[in-house]
Amino acid sequence: MVEQGGQSRRQILKAAVGGAAGIVLGAPVLRLAAAAAQTTSQGADIQRLTDDLFVVRIPGEANVVAQTGAGGALLVDGGSAGASETLMKAVSGLPGGGPVHTIFNTHWHPEQTGSNEPLGKAGRAVIAHENTRLWLTTDITWPWNGRRFKRVSKVAQPNKTFYTTGQLDSGVRYGYIPDAAHTDGDLYVYFPKQNVLAVGDAVSGEGWPVVDYATGGWIGGIVGGLQRLQTLADEETRIVPGRGPVLRLADLKTQYEMYGTIYDRLTQLLNKGRGPGEAVAAQPTKEFDAQMGNPDEFVRRAFESLWAYLSPDA
Ligand SMILES: [Zn+2]
Repeated sequence: MVEQGGQSRRQILKAAVGGAAGIVLGAPVLRLAAAAAQTTSQGADIQRLTDDLFVVRIPGEANVVAQTGAGGALLVDGGSAGASETLMKAVSGLPGGGPVHTIFNTHWHPEQTGSNEPLGKAGRAVIAHENTRLWLTTDITWPWNGRRFKRVSKVAQPNKTFYTTGQLDSGVRYGYIPDAAHTDGDLYVYFPKQNVLAVGDAVSGEGWPVVDYATGGWIGGIVGGLQRLQTLADEETRIVPGRGPVLRLADLKTQYEMYGTIYDRLTQLLNKGRGPGEAVAAQPTKEFDAQMGNPDEFVRRAFESLWAYLSPDA
């Protein structure tokens, strides 16, 4: 691990002392406490990956990756609208931190796009896959629970979209994850100097994933995305998912095998003409449940997602 410079260490200590609640001892923090500098700042839990790259966690919010530099900060995801102010304060308090100049939306969900409006108003770059922009211009209702999402204002929409891949002047690379692991607008951001890969909710680092089949996500995409993302990482790469602790290539391999097994079982059930309730009853995730938690919601949603992609009468 690279030793921190004196100044950044002082700034980190200052930030730690300034945090009112002390270190937030969530499970991911406990797991990683020995591996990385951990501190709190402005209501956020900060995990330092390198001198200029951090995972910012606000309790109850999705992971945010922040890169600091002379020109200000770059973010991968922006938390929910309600947490945006807390996030901006935490980012400006990071060692070398400043105002945000660029934000990526890994996908359209409100947990990722809540800072788009203030940043868009300030004229900052808001980068997303074109499908993410399209979902943000559409009213969406999730059929499984009736949750509704209003389209966002023009200024909160991504102002720079792409279809396949792109690169910033700083060398940061980004690309589409076309498998539709979580939505059909998933993107990754790769920081080559730091060897850090941010993947949003295309990979879950904590429990069973959400399969948002209303906007294109499906269980086959989870498997395909895990396979694709392995080709972008090596043994040293730190992989930051949308939720949960930082992962490694070995974790992607393990997940790929697990979701591959589940995918096979669910497609077999579909081919036998079974329904979602029968799929849940068949316990297709049985050997993983002790580690992963109650699978019923996930299995139901994953099974329903197959209808969109595989069912002949869908
Ligand atoms: Zn999501």
